[in-house]
Amino acid sequence: MNKEENWKKKLTKEQYNILREKGTELAFTGKLLYNKKKGIYICAGCGNELFDSKSKFDSGSGWPSFHSPKSKENIKTNPDNSFSMNRIEVLCNKCDSHLGHLFNDGPKPTGLRFCINSLALEFKEKNNKKKKIV
Ligand code: FE
Repeated sequence: MNKEENWKKKLTKEQYNILREKGTELAFTGKLLYNKKKGIYICAGCGNELFDSKSKFDSGSGWPSFHSPKSKENIKTNPDNSFSMNRIEVLCNKCDSHLGHLFNDGPKPTGLRFCINSLALEFKEKNNKKKKIV
């Protein structure tokens, strides 16, 4: 079985279109757009830890937005001139899946906006249940 067939098996049709064919989900449709829980956003393709909930902000764009990656080594960027636009593509550095795009109109501290498809992410909630001391 070739690599593409493996991806098709692992991902839903919608996820495959984004991660492997560089598609984009419709704005305001993603399940993680309004997620405000504490935790880590991981790659839907390989589980690589991509973004910490601490860096998530409401950009109003309709896609989950982050001002910084969890670690620079976990993502990579690539110039994207498709659709006659000069954009920067954001990819998972481990499995090369397409995640979204990077813009320079984000908030402090970085001024960056990682505009990421919900379908490219899975959310791992932080387990912060503290033992109650009565
Ligand atoms: Fe990945």
